[in-house]
Amino acid sequence: MISAWTNAHPWLRSLVSYEPGKPIEDVARELGLRPDQIIKLASNENPLGPSPKALAAMRDMLERSHFYPDGGGYYLREAIAAKVGLARENIILGCGSNEIIEFIGKAFLSPGDDIIAARHAFVVYKLMATLFGARTIEVPDPNFEHDLDAMLAAITPATKEIFIANPNNPTGTLLSQAQLDAFMARVPDHIVVVFDEAYYEFLPNPPDVIKYVREGRNVVVLRTFSKIQGLANLRIGYGIARPELIDVLQKTRQPFNANGIAQAGALAGLADDDHQRKTRELTIAGRDVLQREFSALGLEYVPSHANFVLVKVGDGKAVFNALLSKGIIIRDMNSYGLPEWIRVSIGTPQQNERFLAELRALLKKV
Ligand SMILES: *Cc1c(COP(=O)(O)O)cnc(C)c1O
Repeated sequence: MISAWTNAHPWLRSLVSYEPGKPIEDVARELGLRPDQIIKLASNENPLGPSPKALAAMRDMLERSHFYPDGGGYYLREAIAAKVGLARENIILGCGSNEIIEFIGKAFLSPGDDIIAARHAFVVYKLMATLFGARTIEVPDPNFEHDLDAMLAAITPATKEIFIANPNNPTGTLLSQAQLDAFMARVPDHIVVVFDEAYYEFLPNPPDVIKYVREGRNVVVLRTFSKIQGLANLRIGYGIARPELIDVLQKTRQPFNANGIAQAGALAGLADDDHQRKTRELTIAGRDVLQREFSALGLEYVPSHANFVLVKVGDGKAVFNALLSKGIIIRDMNSYGLPEWIRVSIGTPQQNERFLAELRALLKKV
């Protein structure tokens, strides 16, 4: 029999599947617990759930499940555009913002090209580059911060895309407006710069990268409804760029990539400032508690601007397994080459306390 690999793209051999946070259902089954006894602080989800307004809109849309969705995403793109002060033609919807990373790859990457990202950037950039036969140049990030000068210096004639997550996942670090402006003043125009702002809404004082879109630069800004909006299950995110660039990306997508229930929930959620404010306040307060407690325990952590904290615990996999046995799911960082670290998402005050109590008990034992 001919191997399935004979005709498959050779570069797919080096493509490792994305390793998601462990699902609650899996842990419940393995431990013989009820799902509601388990807490998941592994995927930076919103512990408050979706906005009640989003839930109501999605319930209504469920009744219309037999219709195809609005493939053009008219109302949601209008609402997003109004919110960011641009036009519908500046917006593309994705099945999660992850899908838009794939669109950008489909549109611009060929075998032999390369992309540039920080050493500890969100891993999906590299996965998508590999999918299209491109190489990822991983630039060292001292203190887990993007080194934008080093990223500029890493540009080769084959460089097509540069990815900057701000704040970055899994580090939680943030670049300032001055740093971003200095970078944009020097980056060549033929390179597509992607600013991934999955955690934008958690920032009290966010830098403005939409202005580069307005200036006609070759920039795509990514945002998502998975994090502060609490709609991770629905898979909906968006990209913001100048209309010519959005036109190119639109060609690469399937006709109904963003489902109607997700669009309805996102549209209602977008208007619920109260839910976003509550989530932001809960997150910042919980993050302060976790970071203070890590200090008290003598644990090194990276001060975070997002809804998670990267903290050094010694043996990350062992801590992951020990917490898992107590029904607490966090993330070890082996897939990021950080075996001594874990990443923990901010939960409700009760969830944070339970996590901290178990962590304290665990550290005492060692
Ligand atoms: C969570 C996350 C995303 C969002 O992914 P979705 O596909 O929208 O769920 C994108 N980028 C980063 C850096 C993230 O952490």
